[in-house]
Amino acid sequence: MNQVKLNKKDYDAIIVGAGFSGLYQLICLRDQLNLNCVVLETGDDVGGTWYWNRYPGARCDTESHAYSYYFSDDLLKEWTWSERYPGHAEIRRYMNFVANKFDLKKDILFQQKVTSACFNNDENNWNVITNSKIEFKAKFLISAVGCLSNTNIPNIKGLEDFEGKYYHTGNWPKNGVSFAGKNVGQIGTGSTGIQAVPVIAEEAKHLTVFQRTANYSIPARNKPLTSEFKKHVKENSDLYKNLVKRTPNAHPFEISKRNVADVDPDELNEIYEKAWEIGGLQFRAVFNDLVTNIKANKTASDFIKKKIRETVSNKKFASILSDIDHPYAGKRPPIDSNYFETFNRDNVNLVDLRSEPIELIDRTGIKTKKNHFDLDIIVFATGYDAMTGPLINMNITGKNGLKLNDVWKEGPKTFLGLQIPGFPNLFTITGPGSPSVLTNMPMAIEQHVEWIRDCINYMNKKDYSTIETDINSAEKWGDEVNSVANQTLLPTVKHSWYLGANIPGKPRVFMPYAGGLPRYTEVCDKIKNNKYKDFILN
Ligand code: NAP
Repeated sequence: MNQVKLNKKDYDAIIVGAGFSGLYQLICLRDQLNLNCVVLETGDDVGGTWYWNRYPGARCDTESHAYSYYFSDDLLKEWTWSERYPGHAEIRRYMNFVANKFDLKKDILFQQKVTSACFNNDENNWNVITNSKIEFKAKFLISAVGCLSNTNIPNIKGLEDFEGKYYHTGNWPKNGVSFAGKNVGQIGTGSTGIQAVPVIAEEAKHLTVFQRTANYSIPARNKPLTSEFKKHVKENSDLYKNLVKRTPNAHPFEISKRNVADVDPDELNEIYEKAWEIGGLQFRAVFNDLVTNIKANKTASDFIKKKIRETVSNKKFASILSDIDHPYAGKRPPIDSNYFETFNRDNVNLVDLRSEPIELIDRTGIKTKKNHFDLDIIVFATGYDAMTGPLINMNITGKNGLKLNDVWKEGPKTFLGLQIPGFPNLFTITGPGSPSVLTNMPMAIEQHVEWIRDCINYMNKKDYSTIETDINSAEKWGDEVNSVANQTLLPTVKHSWYLGANIPGKPRVFMPYAGGLPRYTEVCDKIKNNKYKDFILN
């Protein structure tokens, strides 16, 4: 354990998590407001999501020149990314660079998993206990635990009997996994699975991919950055800063104003072909109405399905992979490096779980309705109990014994994704109801972290002890979250983790705010300029 000075009685703020959110929150509160803070982190280093996601092929799908903090011009000058999309190891190096530059590790306690957090009504502060049974107290509790940190291994009969090894991509061993000479089975073909398949197939003796729902993917066209581009990024950091703050998803490209109906079929095809060659999430931005109009969306969906069929030479595989049941980008759209091409390899097999569901896992592998697959390793790329899972997992108790797990039984209720009724002085960075997972995350994080900093600064200056929201504000905000989501195709996808539909028994509530980061920022700024009167201050 590192040597953080434990000052149990009077931390001003406890920050949980040392990823992008936690690091910047520490800088804002400790260095800008001069507060006494501690960061509690489960892992043994900084990185957050990227600390745990070391699976083969793990790479960010935001282009590196925008996957950065923008708060520090020095940092923008000093750090240089090497590839179009940063890989997991380079992102961890970046986060360590930030932690060292701002001398953050002296205030981070590693290997401290929060096991409970309880609001003390008499003292108006939070009591936080970790797995080491250390108790911390602070006026403010700030969750920086991320949206995708609660891994989901499906409850498949017999897993405990399996004599091989199994791993979840979101909790990957630090020293890696050797696939050489092994028969590997991978369950899951979301953004993660699509990245892992090509890399595992390169190394393993044999890979069987178990696909339940077929998925779209656009080539990432990842490549090393040229020195000209690196220079261009440094010289234009203000331009990119303005761009990411202006675009709804905080990506470094504009969304076209043109609709699909504005172009003729030849032009349409030319636009998609060009976007396919450029690669990446820009594909989604070539028309304005792809995520709002099902007819427009079908043109993109059909184009991608055709590309899949052209790429995959085994007709049966091509049909299974292109039999996609939802609109393009209705789920988080993956991007890949040689995903569909990998199914042309001799050592790769594809199993369609819709026609032969998994019945059980036994000592030697996976048994489906029709076959048995002998395996040495099973990789679960099966996603997360997203957004609410990491918060509920902390066993948070608010005012008068109110348990978060109980109040969110029918789905999360928050005001702006920042505060929960009944939980004073608890702030949730990128909480449910905020743009979070629908954006380039570091941008959404900077906006939240700075808003929280300004709010705490205001409270301290005015000598307020508590800030809280009420159920009316949370319900009104929930209506806004639903209303903007319903203007898109996103809530129409049945098996989406945005809706909690990937976790059995989880309430179906559309969780992220789909109105875009600029519109959301405007709402938050208005509240700040109005002296936080939309909250209850005491
Ligand atoms: P995911 O999108 O939830 O995908 C999970 C996959 O596992 C799906 O194919 C799902 O099938 C399958 N699955 C789950 N339970 C199953 C079961 N019982 N039997 C068979 N299949 C099952 O999770 P993810 O791929 O880890 O991605 C989560 C999010 O992480 C992404 O959407 C993205 O936001 C983020 N991410 C980002 C990057 C990046 O920046 N490049 C990379 C990876 C992940 P169904 O579709 O049928 O449920």
